[in-house]
Amino acid sequence: MGREVHRPGGEGVEAVTPQEKVQEVLSSYEIKRLDGGRWSVRHPKMEEAYIVDPEKGTCTCKAGVNGQVCRHLSAIRVKVEEERSKVKRVEEEKKEGEADLLKRFLNAEEEKLLRTLTPEWIIKLLKAVSSRVLEVESTVKKIRGEEAEKSLERLLE
Ligand SMILES: [Zn+2]
Repeated sequence: MGREVHRPGGEGVEAVTPQEKVQEVLSSYEIKRLDGGRWSVRHPKMEEAYIVDPEKGTCTCKAGVNGQVCRHLSAIRVKVEEERSKVKRVEEEKKEGEADLLKRFLNAEEEKLLRTLTPEWIIKLLKAVSSRVLEVESTVKKIRGEEAEKSLERLLE
């Protein structure tokens, strides 16, 4: 997109804007974000601003209208890319921060749990569980026994 370069009148405009020209636009031009992903780029000594659409690869300056990748378009593309990577970096840092927090929280919880579970506690827990198992078992036996008794009674009637 917008990579096709025309050279009207043999002006010798570079296909790729030199880095220093891009930097000059970024540092001294007035750059504003407009609606629809477009940008306004104005030279400090110029009245009129050029409108750049980095997605479409267009600029309203003379070179841009002629289909060239002008300094304005190049500068805006650099700016958009910088913003994108900044947003990405912030998002990644946030994700890393959350993962780290969760990890720290889990470690703390595990540590707390381990400190609570002293050998005495583990034995108490095992005893509680086994006595409950015994209780259930004896209840089952009792019910079965009662049923066996009943069916024996029924047989004897
Ligand atoms: Zn331009």
